Amino acid sequence: MSGSVFMVDRDTPAGVHDHVDIEFDSGKTLRFRDPRRFGSLHWSKNPLKHKLLRSLGPEPLGQEFDGEYLWKRSRRRRVSIKQFIMNADVVVGVGNIYASEALYYAGISPRRAAGRVALQRYDLLSTAIKDVLVTAIAAGGTTLRDFYGGDGEPGYFQRQLGVYGREGEPCRRCDTPITAIVQGQRSSYYCRRCQT
Ligand SMILES: [Zn+2]
Repeated sequence: MSGSVFMVDRDTPAGVHDHVDIEFDSGKTLRFRDPRRFGSLHWSKNPLKHKLLRSLGPEPLGQEFDGEYLWKRSRRRRVSIKQFIMNADVVVGVGNIYASEALYYAGISPRRAAGRVALQRYDLLSTAIKDVLVTAIAAGGTTLRDFYGGDGEPGYFQRQLGVYGREGEPCRRCDTPITAIVQGQRSSYYCRRCQT
């Protein structure tokens, strides 16, 4: 979520949030830094069969991921559409900000049950997820570290967010104040008028 792995020279002192070093014969060290301690490290000779990886869903930018896939996976599911698309067993890499944004552009309420979204709307949603991710990648991402540059200004992608973090501010489409709710302990932002 907010951790990172990076290469350092072997004699680089570890910081307070550095938890694992893997030393290479080259003299370089692969270092794992995890300030929020959400991460873990696993050793496996067959990683794709590891219990944490074997049930992962497809990549959102891959061909396998489309509206029909989401529609089929969501039948009879009562979980909210927002939590459904954030479940890595369904699709990997759709984080909280991206999920809120994609649902806004697709016009779907984050509160709607996943099993009660029609195929046509899943087509809109899968396209919106891809568009939001491609835009964010082009803008340099939205990880926590990237949110504020050295000057304290919000990162580029945050400035162009459609709905996320905009509670009480006017919807960019209809001027209705944006609503904030909590779902699965994560903040959701949406327009009650545009998203049904
Ligand atoms: Zn609106």
